Amino acid sequence: MSKFLREQYQNLEPYTPGEQPKTDNLIKLNTNENPYGPGPRTKAAISGEQVSKLMLYPDPEASELVEAISQYYELEKEQVMVGNGSDEILAFSFMAFASEGAKVYFPDPSYGFYKVYADIYHSRANPVPLTEDLRINPDHYKNLDGTIIIANPNAPTGIALNLNDIEAILSSNRSNLVIIDEAYIDFGAKSCVPFLTKYDNLLVIQTFSKSRSLAGARVGFAMGGKEVISDLNRIKFSFNPYNLNRLSILAAAEAIRDEAYFQQTRQKIIRTREKFTEELKALGFTVLPSAANFVFARSGRLSGKDYFTGLRERNILVRYFGKEPISDFVRITIGREEDMEQLICATRELLGKGI
Ligand SMILES: *Cc1c(COP(=O)(O)O)cnc(C)c1O
Repeated sequence: MSKFLREQYQNLEPYTPGEQPKTDNLIKLNTNENPYGPGPRTKAAISGEQVSKLMLYPDPEASELVEAISQYYELEKEQVMVGNGSDEILAFSFMAFASEGAKVYFPDPSYGFYKVYADIYHSRANPVPLTEDLRINPDHYKNLDGTIIIANPNAPTGIALNLNDIEAILSSNRSNLVIIDEAYIDFGAKSCVPFLTKYDNLLVIQTFSKSRSLAGARVGFAMGGKEVISDLNRIKFSFNPYNLNRLSILAAAEAIRDEAYFQQTRQKIIRTREKFTEELKALGFTVLPSAANFVFARSGRLSGKDYFTGLRERNILVRYFGKEPISDFVRITIGREEDMEQLICATRELLGKGI
């Protein structure tokens, strides 16, 4: 730490990203990336001609992408804004709506960044514990007095709330902004975007990182009432107007237009998840009911740490959080069928050895 760092940042605990290994001899199931990669249409959108335009600034409004998203969700353009990953949109949201002493409520455990953003923007963070079976109890979010942020499905559990529960939260918090982080929505839960016609206190955040195979392009988006979106744009244009690069705008716009590839890959992942879940259960694991592209699972016989380490020694990378109440769980991204088969083999081996 240098002597120049402001005091208020000296105790900041940064977000810990999952490992991005430098070698490619690992089966990488630790950061919920999509195993199938961008589709052919998306790849073709990044032509040499487009690369040769990189000396020009991108469109600060990313109009092509905003239009493609608004058409997909049947919204007006003014109801959509895009960010450098949904993480940036979350940061803008904390800045705009929950900074400097404002209260913010979010489940715990949930996506680790909520706490980090609350810290860096000086929100008053109110983590709301999950129930004993690691679910969100919607009653804990009724009639609150601050911004609410809920990942649906939740991470790292994968468990989704149904739309009735979300609507009950929205209708009992008319004076609070309710942010629903739908990073994993395309793997089995229902989006609450249709509630935008009825609730001006709703902001929905999604990403191209998971279901649309573009984690490396860094593209996220927010959908909300025109006024809320205009607030977010006020922050964006005060922070980094060119937040999306030219190539990412093109790739994401093509990815959202290519419905066939999207359906094909997301359904493959859902099928693999269901099969893999059954196999893990047959080996005695507790597997939470996932509506995401990962499962959160606990062996009755191996500790979370030993399971994580044993898999790592067999070149399989999963995510281990090592904190209560989830210290015996690991989070396993759903990869290709053959990746999951290898993981099952390695698991059998570990159980056989009884580590
Ligand atoms: C992956 C993830 C994000 C961030 O996604 P990016 O768009 O890649 O920044 C946000 N929220 C949750 C719950 C996630 O799991």
